[in-house]
Amino acid sequence: MLVINGTIVTWETPNRILENQAMLVRGSKIVELGPQDSLLQKYPNEERLDAKNAFVMPGNLCAHTHFYGAFSRGLAIPGAAPADFPEKLSKLWWPLDRSLNLEDVRYSALVCLVDAIRHGTTTLIDHHASPDFIEGSLDEIAQAVDQSGLRASLCYEVTDRNGPAGTEAGINENLRHIRNIKSGKTHDGRLAGMFGLHANLTLSEKTLEACRKACPEGVGFHIHVAEHPVDEYDSLEKSGMRAIDRLNKHGMLGPQTLVVHAVHIDVREMEQLAETSTWVSHQPRSNMNNAVGLPMVESMLRAGIKVCLGNDGFSNAMWEEWKAAFLAHKLVNLDPRRMPAETVVEMAVYNNAQLVNQQFGITTGVLKEGAEADFITAEYYPFTPVTEGNLPWHMIFGFNESMIRDVVVAGKVLLRNRQLQTLDEEKIAYHSQKLIPQVWRRFDEKFI
Ligand SMILES: [Zn+2]
Repeated sequence: MLVINGTIVTWETPNRILENQAMLVRGSKIVELGPQDSLLQKYPNEERLDAKNAFVMPGNLCAHTHFYGAFSRGLAIPGAAPADFPEKLSKLWWPLDRSLNLEDVRYSALVCLVDAIRHGTTTLIDHHASPDFIEGSLDEIAQAVDQSGLRASLCYEVTDRNGPAGTEAGINENLRHIRNIKSGKTHDGRLAGMFGLHANLTLSEKTLEACRKACPEGVGFHIHVAEHPVDEYDSLEKSGMRAIDRLNKHGMLGPQTLVVHAVHIDVREMEQLAETSTWVSHQPRSNMNNAVGLPMVESMLRAGIKVCLGNDGFSNAMWEEWKAAFLAHKLVNLDPRRMPAETVVEMAVYNNAQLVNQQFGITTGVLKEGAEADFITAEYYPFTPVTEGNLPWHMIFGFNESMIRDVVVAGKVLLRNRQLQTLDEEKIAYHSQKLIPQVWRRFDEKFI
């Protein structure tokens, strides 16, 4: 497939914006990038994808999401609204995840995957929970991902909140999925796996030890840390240590591990994240929605911590998350110089790509010869000049997800001229609507 008539943003380091260039895709990869005239001459019979003067750029990546949360949209929480983050867990997320059966899990994933394709997000790192149906739940998601054509890294959140049997089942589901990935049987390398943990506040010392022991070499943990101060206080109470110190003591930090949020960590915890090359994922929309505060992202980056950008189950339109990051840190610091657009790009483009590439053993998030053919076209027709230098600001103020016309992953077209090619949105939405009354009824029953 020859991609022609586009303005190509490579997101290499340093970034390049290419005019009059074409991109040849063979199989799942970009095999040639060069002057359009000569590529058209060289490959006259090649199938073409005409970008029609749109921008062609790598697909967006999401470092942390929860497909399972999709059916919360429009759900009424009984009684008074949750007053803080711990109440959000006990009044919304925990009764909801306990209300999901395997079919709900599959459809929660499918609706998110439709959303991701439509909005140009090509790889997602998911964190799953469905305590009444643990075994096989990651297979349901894996099959949905396979059907969609997207890439996803999956894990099951181990927690002690559903008793010892639930803890053990969570550990086993992670191991089963990781074994499937390692066996190489799965879906053309479009799936990866981590070892999921909920958060310090629902994990005993014994469970952390068991998870450390069970987790295979080379696999990282994916865990929420210090989203709210309660996680730190709970950790101090259980272990006499702060949350990151506790994970470090258990040997759970490191270059494969992904720590989510890190809003309330202290300086010594930051130092440990930097020393161990542990990844951090930032979700500003979720932080604002839960009113938990914002992490010191710029300080973390300065300290050498690789901070990425996720969406925590918000819409899979990642440019919305870019914009939230850009704005939120200015407001909270009362300083318009904070979180410049290039820092957002550092997280959302470069760090996310490194994280995804490490997990999947591929090169994505960049358009160059040898990289995976994971890209989007966006109908952005700028009325001011676009340069490599000012592109990050165009991304924040100009681009939006409604401009996305085509989405390609591993060389396969998933969205062509705004039409979904692999998933039937109407059917998926219709079937989800049929599942919702039972899910919400179970939610009311499980609500304490
Ligand atoms: Zn989360």
